[in-house]
Amino acid sequence: MIHLKSAEEIELMRESAQIVSRTLGLIAEKIGPGVTPLELDKLAYEYIHDNGAVPGFLGFNGFPNSLCISVNEAVVHGIPSDKPLEEGDIASIDCGTVKNGYYGDHAYTFAIGEVSPEVEKLLRITKESLYIGIEQMVWGNRIGDIGYAIQQHAEKEGYGIVRELVGHGLGKTMHEDPQVPNYGRRGRGKKLQNGMVLAIEPMVNMGTKDILMLEDDWTIVTADQKYSAHFEHDIAMVDGKPDILSTFDYVEEALEKRGMNAMRFQTI
Ligand code: MG
Ligand code: MG
Repeated sequence: MIHLKSAEEIELMRESAQIVSRTLGLIAEKIGPGVTPLELDKLAYEYIHDNGAVPGFLGFNGFPNSLCISVNEAVVHGIPSDKPLEEGDIASIDCGTVKNGYYGDHAYTFAIGEVSPEVEKLLRITKESLYIGIEQMVWGNRIGDIGYAIQQHAEKEGYGIVRELVGHGLGKTMHEDPQVPNYGRRGRGKKLQNGMVLAIEPMVNMGTKDILMLEDDWTIVTADQKYSAHFEHDIAMVDGKPDILSTFDYVEEALEKRGMNAMRFQTI
């Protein structure tokens, strides 16, 4: 069942999404070679609590941490480790919060130091595919239009789109109807409606779309061990248009301050 949100609920959800956004901004100030995922997780835990929220992932189905940190071939749901990040790695950092009873849930994939041009392109295309998907969240469209747009953008580069994990509705629970696949057919699926709040989250693999789960029963990795990227926003449909509740501004500003390529999205 799809829970459509009132204007008041959407504002409460914006608050949760903004805490996630600022948490990721803080991560962007610190992340780099030599930093461990566990250090970043601790930082996030403290920041979220200091801002009157609770981490949305900690304890969720037994997940042990506040952040999912998925490095290189890990797609999503990575458990933060004490292994320092290395130059040339990429790390998808997914963060959830709950405030006022509503979830925020979004993600950014960071380049650790200098990455190869091929990997930088994977990050750029995945980030673009997120925004291209969001552009489809307009009156008259259906869920399939979002997935179709994301899939086209990624597959034309020869990348694989993960099938088994999808975006989702968001609200008082982290995963609500409808599911939002990153693949699909135009004009298919549920009709988009005002008051829908969706977490759109393309997971794009450099090689095969196939995935495996590690023995920790959490970490999803690519079957061919090639890198995978993941970007996620929370978006409400308001007056027939997408209203992005989360933002990458804090991340991009922090990265630019450090002289790093923030890959700001440009309409193409
Ligand atoms: Mg997420
Ligand atoms: Mg999500």
